[in-house]
Amino acid sequence: MSRSNTAPMHSPPPYPYLLSAIDVGPFSLPNRVVMGSMHTGLEALPDGMERLAAFYGERADAGVPLIVTGGFAPNEEGRLNEHPVTMASREDALRHQVITRRVHGAGGRIALQVLHSGRYGYHTKSVAPSPLKSPINRETPRAMTAADIERTIGDYARCASLAREAGYDGVEIMGSEGYLIAEFLAPRTNRRGDEWGGALENRLRFPAEVVRRVRQRLGDDFLILFRISALDLVEGGLSGAETATLARAVEGAGANILTSGFGWHEARVPTIAQMVPRAGFAWATARIAGAVSIPVAASNRINTPETAEAMIESGAASLVMLARPFLSDAAFVAKASRGDRKAINICIACNQACLDHYFVGKPSTCMVNPRACNETLLRPQPAARPKRIAVVGGGPGGLSCAAAAAERGHAVTLFEREGQLGGQFNLAKVVPGKQEFAETIAHYADRIMRAGVEVRLGCAATAEELSAGGFGDIVLATGVTPRRPAIDGIGHACVASYADVLTGRVEPGRRVAIIGAGGIGFDVALYLAERGGHSHRDPEAFAAYWGIDRERLSAGALGPADEETPNGCSIVMLQRRAGRFGDTLGRSTGWIHRLVLGRHGVETVGGATYRRIDDAGLHITAAGEERCIPADTVIVCAGQEPLAGLAKALQDAGPAVHLIGGAREAAELDAVRAFDEGYRLALAL
Ligand code: NAP
Ligand code: SF4
Repeated sequence: MSRSNTAPMHSPPPYPYLLSAIDVGPFSLPNRVVMGSMHTGLEALPDGMERLAAFYGERADAGVPLIVTGGFAPNEEGRLNEHPVTMASREDALRHQVITRRVHGAGGRIALQVLHSGRYGYHTKSVAPSPLKSPINRETPRAMTAADIERTIGDYARCASLAREAGYDGVEIMGSEGYLIAEFLAPRTNRRGDEWGGALENRLRFPAEVVRRVRQRLGDDFLILFRISALDLVEGGLSGAETATLARAVEGAGANILTSGFGWHEARVPTIAQMVPRAGFAWATARIAGAVSIPVAASNRINTPETAEAMIESGAASLVMLARPFLSDAAFVAKASRGDRKAINICIACNQACLDHYFVGKPSTCMVNPRACNETLLRPQPAARPKRIAVVGGGPGGLSCAAAAAERGHAVTLFEREGQLGGQFNLAKVVPGKQEFAETIAHYADRIMRAGVEVRLGCAATAEELSAGGFGDIVLATGVTPRRPAIDGIGHACVASYADVLTGRVEPGRRVAIIGAGGIGFDVALYLAERGGHSHRDPEAFAAYWGIDRERLSAGALGPADEETPNGCSIVMLQRRAGRFGDTLGRSTGWIHRLVLGRHGVETVGGATYRRIDDAGLHITAAGEERCIPADTVIVCAGQEPLAGLAKALQDAGPAVHLIGGAREAAELDAVRAFDEGYRLALAL
């Protein structure tokens, strides 16, 4: 595929800074976009290398000039988990050749990320500078001896050498996020009394020596990226001055590019969640860039070409490193090059199908692009026999199905009973920190329009209309309706559903009881707690709220956090289950929601039995005691029921009827499943 800017000659070039060429080490790159490292979980699958080759290959086809793979360990001790995801032998190198050939065939370059997990290894052989257990791991690492350290440095160099045998153009040495190299650097985890611990010059000996040895072994025509922890965000981490010294040491040892990482995995500051402002850490990247003369790549919450352009134009960084945005859209660079911003399927930083899948052992994909990491399995082809298809429901499932079916050549009519597309995403987008959901609605609305879908808004399709419409297939993506639990007094005037509240149909009073503490219960609690414009959307306010020391004088760049400003709302959230609240939320974000609601003083009551609702509020029994929770409004967030009435009415109608998403099964529904079912069905129609 052409890498040139395909915009017409008379229009100004889109994103001129982002799309300008740059020399990095031995290579010249045609634009400033690096695809950053992601653990996809594909590495450990039997057909993983072929799937990775297709995944990376499609991104290289669409103009990504440099890709960094997920992490591969330089030895057995450095594995992240029990899976042998290593680059430590000739066999390992051979297996990777399918990846490098595919990327080179597309004209791209690719570097292997070398990641030694240190004390974050979830297995019994983990090692670290000192035998200190991480708060996020059950295992205590073995302290490395001086001989272990020397051998491990050699393993990094051997790993890089094997990477070259595999065809890689370079390596990224993972030095951030709290893995082994970061553990050597920080007094938090390095308590050694020998030449590898103590003063900063000793603590940075390990990373500098790793880079030096890799450079020595591979020579100057091999690219070395070093991922530096721009902010550790843990106590006992590095200060800004120490980080600058490290950056210079790594540059001196032979690195060509510094890529930036933010926060150790055990940090209690969000760094990639949707609530982090776009380019929220640009200021910290700029400080690193100011300390060295090699290019620095910015990362974290850079999800649009305009954000990326601003980063480069301001001089905060020379490159941008986008990771999740390449899950949501393989053609980010090609579309930006055409100036077609609307066509980009923006990553909304939900983590629901990428990180949250990886953390539970499922291969990563993308909520808004189910094809990501499934490129070899899901191959859309033009429809052999184009049909007329009705899709009923313009939420995630319906939009996903309508777009993909129409793009295959089917004639699709989309019926949406509301006056706008988006379904449940219209509720999500009003929750503080979830504004990005609007991007997905806008993208799909544009996409179905381009694909020629006939959209009928404000149109609740009837069975008669659908039967008589001459459709070959009818897709029911009619979604869900809020569950109304059988509680005495559920019809009381003070009771509202979450949909009533989030659409603004009901304005709750100051005292609120929330029945149900799933994702939506948490969303509603946050929506109410931050009523009155309390939000932390700009990088400065975000840093102040989370106690990030922007001067970086303190160890780990942590300082006092702003006090929460109460808005006078008293919120009690309840569930029938005993145990911790928020256990059903995604692993990557659940802790943030719990923390924020705790700071807002939201009370949680588990093990509740709901007795009745009346003028006084919500009467319950909990911990063996009867209690009344005074409430002006009782908001029901007790899950959903399928809205699938049309299915029955259409069963003898003639056309094939397909139920997807919440209309098929409301339990455990999330938008990941809705998008996925819609897409897969569209490919099968
Ligand atoms: P949910 O996660 O299934 O939670 C429903 C809540 O209602 C639970 O707390 C449940 O707890 C309670 N409940 C269920 N049946 C009840 C009944 N008959 N009477 C009283 N309480 C009842 O559903 P949701 O919160 O509506 O979320 C829907 C989907 O969207 C989920 O898949 C969720 O993961 C996803 N989502 C995720 C997020 C996020 O991750 N941040 C945000 C929004 C939505 P007890 O049974 O213990 O009472
Ligand atoms: Fe981005 Fe969400 Fe897709 Fe992950 S699942 S890539 S966070 S949109």
